Amino acid sequence: MMQNEVLPSSISLYLGLLEKIDAFEKALLEKYGEHISCRKGCSECCVLESVFPIEAFMMRRAVTDLAPEERTAVRENSENRREQCVFLEGGNCMIYGSRPVICRTHGYPIEMDGEVDFCLKNFKGLAGIDGDSILDLELLNTMIAAINLRFVNETDDDFFRRDRVPLAEILSD
Ligand code: SF4
Repeated sequence: MMQNEVLPSSISLYLGLLEKIDAFEKALLEKYGEHISCRKGCSECCVLESVFPIEAFMMRRAVTDLAPEERTAVRENSENRREQCVFLEGGNCMIYGSRPVICRTHGYPIEMDGEVDFCLKNFKGLAGIDGDSILDLELLNTMIAAINLRFVNETDDDFFRRDRVPLAEILSD
């Protein structure tokens, strides 16, 4: 982050949430790593068109650090792609450290309405998954929505004052 930049307080809440998700991932990989296929180069789930405004804010900051040729690639992807994420290039995420919450959890065990779901490439042959390795998706969604609402109320940038931000609009120039 830029020095002396004043950030909305919602950003620190969002970063705290990311820390918790990353800790969940670390523990999950320690326990079930050999049963999980998610890794660099597997990008089948990189089908994403829009994100919460607070996530767009973080992604826009990350885009400013990209090399000129990477920015060109994002610009071309933004014009040409319909479903595949504009930040996916050569099978890799160009803004991996600033990827949104859904990209940090996709493929891992989530519970919603009493049903547990995960990528079918993962956990093959396992009879079950421990409860502490399953994300409560409803709770996670509630937390993101609350932090995002706080951000939208805090920001004075009209670009972010809406329900969702299309990824194709994140690169501004
Ligand atoms: S932001 Fe990165 S990880 Fe998320 S869908 Fe796009 S390329 Fe994939």
